Formats: sequence, C-alpha cells, structure tokens
Amino acid sequence: MGHGHRPHRHAEIRHAGPARLLQRRCALARPLRFPPARHADPVRRAEPNLTSVANGRCRCGAVSFELTAEPHFTSYCHCEDCRRATGAPGVAFVGVHDSEIVWRGEPSGRYGEPPVTRFFCDTCGSPIGYRDARLDGRTYFYTAVLETPDRFAPTVHAFYPERIVWLDLHDDLPRHDRTTIDR
Ligand SMILES: [Zn+2]
Ligand SMILES: [Zn+2]
Repeated sequence: MGHGHRPHRHAEIRHAGPARLLQRRCALARPLRFPPARHADPVRRAEPNLTSVANGRCRCGAVSFELTAEPHFTSYCHCEDCRRATGAPGVAFVGVHDSEIVWRGEPSGRYGEPPVTRFFCDTCGSPIGYRDARLDGRTYFYTAVLETPDRFAPTVHAFYPERIVWLDLHDDLPRHDRTTIDR
C-alpha cells in the first residue's frame, strides 16, 4: 500500500458524512450497479477489516477494495478482447462473489460489450476487472491488481488457441478452446 496515504479525490469521500457521501455518489456519472455500499459504514471504513483475505487497488489508489473470502475461481484468459482491454499479452483473473467485496473506492469507468462490462479507474486508467450478465452475482478481477497476486495462481487457461504464440507458458493446467465456465 505504498500509495495508500497519497491524497486523492476519494479521500474526501472517506472522511465525509453520509449526506455528503450521498451527494458525491450522485454526482458521479454513470454509477456501476454494484451491491449496496457496505463501505459506507464508518466503522468498517475506520478499522482494518480483519476478515479480509486480499486487497486490491488501481495504480493511483482511487479504486481499492478488500476481498473477504478466497476467490472461488482463478484463470488465465488469452482472448484478444482481454488482451486489448489490458494491453497485456495474456491476462489472469480471480473470480469472487459480489457479497465478498468491500469497496473502498468503486471504479467509475466502465466499458460495455454486453453481456460483459469491463471497469477501470477513470483517474489513472488501470483496468480493474469485469462482470458478465450471464454470471450473476460474480465479479472477476484482474489478478495483477491484487496486493498479493502470487497467492492466486491461475488453475486453467481460457481461449488458449487465441494466445500470442510467443507467450510460452510451461504448465500442466487444462487448456480450453473457449470459456472455462458455462454461460
Ligand atoms: Zn486509479
Ligand atoms: Zn478474455
């Protein structure tokens, strides 16, 4: 959390009262339909969440969150769309249930290719993850936005035939031609 104490626009929200918070939330354009804002609870915001198993953030810190349970899913994706969305030659994900996310700063940037909506920090541009309308109640974060990505190794490859050929990963993980979860 090297940037955790850097002041940014969301720090203002953190120390604001509920009325002010509401005001700011309404002022944010295009709010994402995330579950009710558990992070609005001042006690939860003031104290470290002892049940958290991982933290994640964008590069500027405006977007940050805690996970209160181990991800139920980890994967690589080699599809062209994920590559373009992140600028990376391949992408790793963790999947969590929405109820296991405590947002400290929600991502206000999003890009929709229904049924998939990708979200990102509209301050620094960091890609954060995506949701798929066919997989209700779940959010998929790019593993690289977590503070401890080493702990969440992918267990499967999705869209393996679309990979960039020089991305030569030596593992025995299952390789799927398309998605790894039925939709
Ligand atoms: Zn950011
Ligand atoms: Zn993909």
